[in-house]
Amino acid sequence: MNVCYPWFESLHAQLMHHAQANTLHHALLIHAKPGMGKHEYVHQLANDLLCHRPESQGACGHCQSCLLNNALSHPDRYVIASDKQISVNEIREALEKLQEHAQLRQRKVLIIEHADTMTESAANALLKTLEEPSSDTFLLLTVNDIQRLLPTILSRCEKNTLSKPSTSMLRSWLNEHHQITAADDLMRAYQYAPLSIVSALKDSPETNYNAFKEDLVAIKQGQLDSLGFAQKWHFQAYQSLGWLQLMLQQKIMKLTDTDTSLHYLAVSDFVSQQMQRIHHQGTNKRLVLSHVIDKVMS
Ligand SMILES: [Zn+2]
Repeated sequence: MNVCYPWFESLHAQLMHHAQANTLHHALLIHAKPGMGKHEYVHQLANDLLCHRPESQGACGHCQSCLLNNALSHPDRYVIASDKQISVNEIREALEKLQEHAQLRQRKVLIIEHADTMTESAANALLKTLEEPSSDTFLLLTVNDIQRLLPTILSRCEKNTLSKPSTSMLRSWLNEHHQITAADDLMRAYQYAPLSIVSALKDSPETNYNAFKEDLVAIKQGQLDSLGFAQKWHFQAYQSLGWLQLMLQQKIMKLTDTDTSLHYLAVSDFVSQQMQRIHHQGTNKRLVLSHVIDKVMS
Protein backbone atom coordinates (compact mmCIF):
# COMPACT_ATOMS: atom_id res chain seq x y z
CA MET A 1 0.00 0.00 0.00
CA ASN A 2 1.39 3.39 -0.94
CA VAL A 3 1.43 6.23 1.56
CA CYS A 4 -1.88 8.11 1.44
CA TYR A 5 -0.40 11.38 0.14
CA PRO A 6 2.85 11.76 -1.81
CA TRP A 7 4.02 14.72 0.32
CA PHE A 8 4.24 12.35 3.30
CA GLU A 9 6.38 9.82 1.45
CA SER A 10 9.84 10.83 2.63
CA LEU A 11 8.75 11.34 6.25
CA HIS A 12 7.01 7.98 6.18
CA ALA A 13 10.03 6.17 4.76
CA GLN A 14 12.19 7.68 7.49
CA LEU A 15 9.78 6.74 10.30
CA MET A 16 9.28 3.17 9.02
CA HIS A 17 13.02 2.76 8.72
CA HIS A 18 13.34 3.61 12.42
CA ALA A 19 10.40 1.36 13.30
CA GLN A 20 12.08 -1.59 11.59
CA ALA A 21 15.36 -0.84 13.38
CA ASN A 22 13.50 -0.47 16.70
CA THR A 23 14.75 3.09 17.03
CA LEU A 24 11.46 4.87 16.50
CA HIS A 25 10.78 7.65 19.04
CA HIS A 26 7.89 6.72 21.32
CA ALA A 27 6.10 10.05 20.86
CA LEU A 28 5.82 11.52 17.39
CA LEU A 29 4.43 14.94 16.79
CA ILE A 30 3.14 15.52 13.27
CA HIS A 31 2.88 19.25 12.78
CA ALA A 32 1.30 20.68 9.64
CA LYS A 33 -1.11 23.38 8.56
CA PRO A 34 -4.76 22.45 8.13
CA GLY A 35 -5.53 20.85 4.79
CA MET A 36 -2.35 18.78 4.56
CA GLY A 37 -3.96 15.46 5.54
CA LYS A 38 -1.99 14.85 8.73
CA HIS A 39 -4.84 13.05 10.49
CA GLU A 40 -5.32 10.60 7.62
CA TYR A 41 -1.59 10.13 7.61
CA VAL A 42 -1.20 9.21 11.30
CA HIS A 43 -3.93 6.62 10.89
CA GLN A 44 -1.96 5.04 8.10
CA LEU A 45 1.22 5.21 10.18
CA ALA A 46 -0.65 3.43 13.00
CA ASN A 47 -1.74 0.68 10.58
CA ASP A 48 1.82 0.24 9.38
CA LEU A 49 3.23 0.13 12.92
CA LEU A 50 0.67 -2.42 14.07
CA CYS A 51 0.89 -4.70 11.02
CA HIS A 52 2.30 -8.18 11.80
CA ARG A 53 3.95 -8.57 8.42
CA PRO A 54 4.91 -5.08 7.25
CA GLU A 55 6.19 -4.96 3.70
CA SER A 56 8.53 -2.40 2.22
CA GLN A 57 5.47 -0.39 1.14
CA GLY A 58 3.87 -0.54 4.59
CA ALA A 59 1.03 -2.58 6.11
CA CYS A 60 0.35 -5.92 4.37
CA GLY A 61 -3.42 -5.39 4.39
CA HIS A 62 -4.37 -8.97 5.24
CA CYS A 63 -2.84 -10.02 8.58
CA GLN A 64 -5.04 -10.18 11.67
CA SER A 65 -3.93 -6.73 12.76
CA CYS A 66 -4.61 -5.17 9.36
CA LEU A 67 -8.06 -6.78 9.17
CA LEU A 68 -8.93 -5.39 12.61
CA ASN A 69 -7.57 -1.99 11.64
CA ASN A 70 -9.65 -2.02 8.47
CA ALA A 71 -12.71 -2.88 10.56
CA LEU A 72 -11.80 -0.04 12.96
CA SER A 73 -11.77 -2.50 15.87
CA HIS A 74 -8.10 -3.04 16.67
CA PRO A 75 -7.83 -3.63 20.45
CA ASP A 76 -4.37 -2.02 20.77
CA ARG A 77 -5.15 1.17 18.94
CA TYR A 78 -6.78 4.10 20.67
CA VAL A 79 -7.88 7.35 19.12
CA ILE A 80 -8.66 10.65 20.77
CA ALA A 81 -10.00 13.20 18.34
CA SER A 82 -11.47 16.59 19.02
CA ASP A 83 -11.02 19.87 17.25
CA LYS A 84 -12.50 21.77 20.19
CA GLN A 85 -10.94 20.58 23.44
CA ILE A 86 -9.41 17.35 24.71
CA SER A 87 -10.29 16.80 28.36
CA VAL A 88 -8.26 15.22 31.14
CA ASN A 89 -10.79 12.38 31.35
CA GLU A 90 -10.29 11.43 27.72
CA ILE A 91 -6.53 11.27 28.24
CA ARG A 92 -6.81 9.29 31.50
CA GLU A 93 -9.20 6.77 29.99
CA ALA A 94 -6.92 6.17 27.00
CA LEU A 95 -3.83 5.84 29.21
CA GLU A 96 -5.54 3.27 31.42
CA LYS A 97 -6.31 1.16 28.38
CA LEU A 98 -2.75 1.59 27.16
CA GLN A 99 -1.35 0.21 30.38
CA GLU A 100 -3.11 -3.11 29.87
CA HIS A 101 -1.09 -5.68 28.02
CA ALA A 102 -1.17 -5.50 24.29
CA GLN A 103 -3.80 -7.96 23.17
CA LEU A 104 -2.50 -8.87 19.74
CA ARG A 105 1.18 -8.22 19.65
CA GLN A 106 3.57 -6.04 21.56
CA ARG A 107 2.92 -2.73 19.85
CA LYS A 108 0.24 -0.35 20.97
CA VAL A 109 -0.66 2.98 19.43
CA LEU A 110 -2.43 6.01 20.82
CA ILE A 111 -3.43 8.65 18.28
CA ILE A 112 -4.23 12.14 19.60
CA GLU A 113 -5.63 14.31 16.83
CA HIS A 114 -5.48 18.06 17.44
CA ALA A 115 -3.23 17.54 20.47
CA ASP A 116 -2.90 21.33 20.64
CA THR A 117 -6.47 21.43 21.99
CA MET A 118 -5.58 19.48 25.16
CA THR A 119 -6.48 21.37 28.32
CA GLU A 120 -3.57 22.04 30.66
CA SER A 121 -4.67 19.24 32.99
CA ALA A 122 -5.05 16.87 30.03
CA ALA A 123 -1.50 17.71 28.94
CA ASN A 124 -0.22 17.16 32.48
CA ALA A 125 -1.96 13.80 32.62
CA LEU A 126 -0.15 12.79 29.44
CA LEU A 127 3.20 13.99 30.69
CA LYS A 128 4.01 10.99 32.86
CA THR A 129 3.50 8.58 29.96
CA LEU A 130 5.76 10.74 27.84
CA GLU A 131 8.44 10.75 30.52
CA GLU A 132 8.30 7.05 31.27
CA PRO A 133 7.14 5.36 28.12
CA SER A 134 6.34 1.68 28.23
CA SER A 135 8.14 -0.28 25.56
CA ASP A 136 6.44 -0.64 22.20
CA THR A 137 3.85 1.98 22.94
CA PHE A 138 3.71 4.76 20.38
CA LEU A 139 1.96 8.07 20.76
CA LEU A 140 1.09 9.83 17.51
CA LEU A 141 0.06 13.45 17.98
CA THR A 142 -1.15 15.81 15.28
CA VAL A 143 -1.03 19.59 15.75
CA ASN A 144 -1.92 22.67 13.71
CA ASP A 145 -0.36 25.16 16.06
CA ILE A 146 2.75 24.09 17.90
CA GLN A 147 2.79 27.27 20.02
CA ARG A 148 -0.30 26.07 21.83
CA LEU A 149 1.40 22.95 23.18
CA LEU A 150 2.94 23.03 26.65
CA PRO A 151 6.75 23.23 26.33
CA THR A 152 7.02 20.17 28.61
CA ILE A 153 5.00 18.13 26.08
CA LEU A 154 6.87 19.54 23.10
CA SER A 155 10.28 18.75 24.55
CA ARG A 156 9.37 15.08 25.07
CA CYS A 157 8.14 14.47 21.55
CA GLU A 158 9.98 14.14 18.28
CA LYS A 159 8.75 17.03 16.20
CA ASN A 160 8.09 16.39 12.52
CA THR A 161 7.02 19.53 10.69
CA LEU A 162 5.57 18.95 7.29
CA SER A 163 6.18 21.65 4.73
CA LYS A 164 3.92 22.32 1.79
CA PRO A 165 4.28 20.09 -1.27
CA SER A 166 6.16 21.43 -4.28
CA THR A 167 3.90 23.06 -6.87
CA SER A 168 4.68 20.34 -9.40
CA MET A 169 3.80 17.57 -6.94
CA LEU A 170 0.64 19.38 -5.92
CA ARG A 171 -0.39 20.07 -9.50
CA SER A 172 0.02 16.48 -10.61
CA TRP A 173 -1.73 15.10 -7.51
CA LEU A 174 -4.72 17.42 -8.03
CA ASN A 175 -4.86 16.41 -11.65
CA GLU A 176 -4.46 12.71 -11.15
CA HIS A 177 -6.70 12.21 -8.12
CA HIS A 178 -9.29 14.93 -8.50
CA GLN A 179 -9.18 15.97 -12.17
CA ILE A 180 -8.47 19.51 -11.02
CA THR A 181 -6.30 21.88 -13.00
CA ALA A 182 -5.23 24.50 -10.50
CA ALA A 183 -3.77 27.88 -11.42
CA ASP A 184 -0.75 29.15 -9.51
CA ASP A 185 -2.66 31.93 -7.78
CA LEU A 186 -5.36 29.51 -6.61
CA MET A 187 -2.76 27.20 -5.05
CA ARG A 188 -1.19 30.22 -3.36
CA ALA A 189 -4.59 31.44 -2.10
CA TYR A 190 -4.99 28.16 -0.21
CA GLN A 191 -1.38 28.14 1.00
CA TYR A 192 -0.64 25.06 -1.11
CA ALA A 193 -2.69 22.91 1.27
CA PRO A 194 -3.92 20.13 -1.04
CA LEU A 195 -7.07 19.10 0.81
CA SER A 196 -8.13 22.73 1.28
CA ILE A 197 -7.91 23.23 -2.48
CA VAL A 198 -9.98 20.14 -3.20
CA SER A 199 -12.59 21.08 -0.63
CA ALA A 200 -12.79 24.68 -1.85
CA LEU A 201 -13.25 23.71 -5.48
CA LYS A 202 -15.64 20.83 -4.89
CA ASP A 203 -17.63 21.90 -1.82
CA SER A 204 -17.74 25.69 -1.97
CA PRO A 205 -18.17 26.84 -5.58
CA GLU A 206 -19.99 29.99 -4.41
CA THR A 207 -17.39 31.16 -1.94
CA ASN A 208 -14.06 29.90 -3.19
CA TYR A 209 -11.16 31.93 -4.52
CA ASN A 210 -12.30 31.63 -8.14
CA ALA A 211 -15.74 33.02 -7.24
CA PHE A 212 -13.98 35.82 -5.35
CA LYS A 213 -11.96 36.75 -8.43
CA GLU A 214 -15.09 36.67 -10.60
CA ASP A 215 -16.80 39.11 -8.24
CA LEU A 216 -13.83 41.48 -8.47
CA VAL A 217 -14.17 41.39 -12.26
CA ALA A 218 -17.89 42.08 -11.87
CA ILE A 219 -17.05 45.20 -9.83
CA LYS A 220 -14.62 46.36 -12.46
CA GLN A 221 -17.27 45.95 -15.13
CA GLY A 222 -19.87 47.80 -13.05
CA GLN A 223 -22.11 44.75 -12.57
CA LEU A 224 -21.58 44.69 -8.78
CA ASP A 225 -20.94 47.48 -6.26
CA SER A 226 -18.75 47.35 -3.18
CA LEU A 227 -21.73 47.03 -0.83
CA GLY A 228 -23.10 44.06 -2.75
CA PHE A 229 -19.65 42.56 -2.69
CA ALA A 230 -19.33 43.08 1.08
CA GLN A 231 -22.79 41.60 1.61
CA LYS A 232 -21.66 38.38 -0.05
CA TRP A 233 -18.16 38.09 1.40
CA HIS A 234 -18.35 39.49 4.95
CA PHE A 235 -18.85 35.94 6.33
CA GLN A 236 -15.25 35.27 5.40
CA ALA A 237 -13.98 38.81 5.69
CA TYR A 238 -10.53 37.93 6.96
CA GLN A 239 -9.95 35.36 4.23
CA SER A 240 -11.18 37.88 1.62
CA LEU A 241 -8.77 40.56 2.82
CA GLY A 242 -5.97 37.99 2.81
CA TRP A 243 -6.73 37.14 -0.81
CA LEU A 244 -6.80 40.82 -1.76
CA GLN A 245 -3.47 41.24 -0.04
CA LEU A 246 -1.96 38.36 -2.02
CA MET A 247 -3.24 39.85 -5.27
CA LEU A 248 -1.78 43.23 -4.40
CA GLN A 249 1.59 41.70 -3.57
CA GLN A 250 1.65 39.87 -6.90
CA LYS A 251 0.77 43.07 -8.68
CA ILE A 252 3.45 45.08 -6.88
CA MET A 253 6.11 42.51 -7.77
CA LYS A 254 5.37 43.01 -11.46
CA LEU A 255 5.30 46.83 -11.39
CA THR A 256 8.26 48.81 -12.71
CA ASP A 257 6.93 52.35 -12.32
CA THR A 258 7.84 53.83 -8.91
CA ASP A 259 4.78 56.04 -8.44
CA THR A 260 2.37 53.21 -9.17
CA SER A 261 4.35 50.89 -6.91
CA LEU A 262 4.17 53.40 -4.05
CA HIS A 263 0.44 53.76 -4.56
CA TYR A 264 -0.14 50.00 -4.36
CA LEU A 265 2.21 49.64 -1.39
CA ALA A 266 0.08 52.19 0.46
CA VAL A 267 -3.08 50.29 -0.48
CA SER A 268 -1.49 47.07 0.71
CA ASP A 269 -0.60 48.70 4.06
CA PHE A 270 -4.17 49.85 4.37
CA VAL A 271 -5.46 46.31 3.76
CA SER A 272 -3.07 45.00 6.46
CA GLN A 273 -4.42 47.51 8.95
CA GLN A 274 -7.98 46.49 8.15
CA MET A 275 -7.06 42.83 8.65
CA GLN A 276 -5.93 43.70 12.19
CA ARG A 277 -9.08 45.73 12.75
CA ILE A 278 -11.43 42.97 11.73
CA HIS A 279 -10.36 40.86 14.72
CA HIS A 280 -11.81 43.38 17.16
CA GLN A 281 -15.22 42.54 18.47
CA GLY A 282 -17.97 44.77 17.25
CA THR A 283 -16.22 45.71 14.02
CA ASN A 284 -18.70 46.00 11.19
CA LYS A 285 -17.14 43.61 8.71
CA ARG A 286 -19.46 44.61 5.89
CA LEU A 287 -18.42 48.23 6.19
CA VAL A 288 -14.72 47.40 6.43
CA LEU A 289 -14.90 45.17 3.36
CA SER A 290 -16.80 47.65 1.21
CA HIS A 291 -14.42 50.41 2.28
CA VAL A 292 -11.41 48.27 1.34
CA ILE A 293 -12.93 47.33 -2.00
CA ASP A 294 -13.57 50.99 -2.81
CA LYS A 295 -9.95 51.78 -2.04
CA VAL A 296 -8.45 48.80 -3.88
CA MET A 297 -10.56 49.22 -6.99
CA SER A 298 -10.17 53.01 -7.23
ZN1 LIG B 1 -0.68 -6.57 8.10
